[in-house]
Amino acid sequence: MKFAITSRGDQKSNEIKTRMTNYLTDFHLVLDESEPDIVISVGGDGTFLEAFHTYNHRLEHTAFVGVHTGHLGFYADWVPDEVEKLVIEVAKNPFQIIEYPLLEITIHPNDGGNVDRFLALNESSVKTTEGSVVLDVSIKGEHFERFRGDGLCISTPSGSTAYNKALGGGIIHPSLESIQITEMASINNRVFRTIGSPLILPKHHICELKPIYADRSFLITIDHITKSYTNVKAIECRVAEEKIRFARFKSFPFWKRVHDSFISDSDQRKF
Ligand code: NAP
Repeated sequence: MKFAITSRGDQKSNEIKTRMTNYLTDFHLVLDESEPDIVISVGGDGTFLEAFHTYNHRLEHTAFVGVHTGHLGFYADWVPDEVEKLVIEVAKNPFQIIEYPLLEITIHPNDGGNVDRFLALNESSVKTTEGSVVLDVSIKGEHFERFRGDGLCISTPSGSTAYNKALGGGIIHPSLESIQITEMASINNRVFRTIGSPLILPKHHICELKPIYADRSFLITIDHITKSYTNVKAIECRVAEEKIRFARFKSFPFWKRVHDSFISDSDQRKF
C-alpha cells in the first residue's frame, strides 16, 4: 500500500510525520506522495483541509486519516500518543471506509468563458469588499429571495461545526447528504426581506446565486482558499457526486466528537 503524510509544519507535527514515515516503511508500505492510497494529515483540521485539497483529484482512490497535534479536531481525531497503534492498523489493511458528503460549487462567468468547479469539505462562502452582497437566490430553479447583506455560507454536514456554526447554522450529521445555507448579517427591513433562518437542502436541490450588479467583484472561499471573481453570472451549489473517504480504525461517533469539542472533553457530568 502507498501512503503520504502531510504536516502542519511545526516541530511537533514534523517529528510525528518523520516517525510515522519510518514506522510505515518498516512495515513495507511505500511512500508515494503523488498517488497515495492513504493520506495521513498531522496537525489540525486546517492541515486536514489542505491535505484534502492536495488530493481531491483522486478521491476514489485515496482514503484520509487525521492526527491532531493541538486540540481535538473534527477530521484530525487521533492523538499523537496513538500513532504506533495507528501505524499497525494502517499496515494491517484493509481498513473500514466511512464516506462523508462534499459541496460542489460552480462559478459561471458572464462572458461565456470557462466555468470553474470546486469541491469543498467544509464550506464555500460568498462575500464582497464592495458594500453589500446582493444576489437572487433560487432553489430548484424557482426564485426564493433577493439577498442583501455581508454574504452567504454554504456548508457540508461535516463543515457544519466550522464557519456555519459561528453563523448560527445547525449541526448536521454527515450521514445526511445535504448542504446548508446560512446568512451573514442580512439586511431585513420593510424594503428588503430574506428568510433569516438557515436552509438545509437535500441532494439534487441545486441552489443558484445570481448577482444583481454585473460589475461587482466577489470573494469566494472554498474552505481555507479565497478567490476573487468579477463578471460572475451565477454560482451553483449542490451536494457533490464525489465523497471524501475516511479510513476508520476505531469508533468515534460524530455526536461524541461534537460533545468533546464544544461541551467538555471529559465524561464527568458537571452540575
Ligand atoms: P483558521 O481561521 O486558521 O481556523 C479556523 C478554525 O476552524 C480552526 O480552529 C480549525 O481547527 C477549525 N475548523 C476547521 N474545520 C472545522 C470543522 N469541520 N469543524 C470544527 N472546526 C473546524 O482557518 P483554517 O485552519 O485555514 O480553516 C479554514 C476554515 O476556517 C474554513 O473552512 C471555515 O470553516 C473556518 N472559518 C471559521 C470562521 C469562524 O468560526 N468564525 C471564520 C472563517 C473561517 P484546527 O485548529 O484544528 O485547524
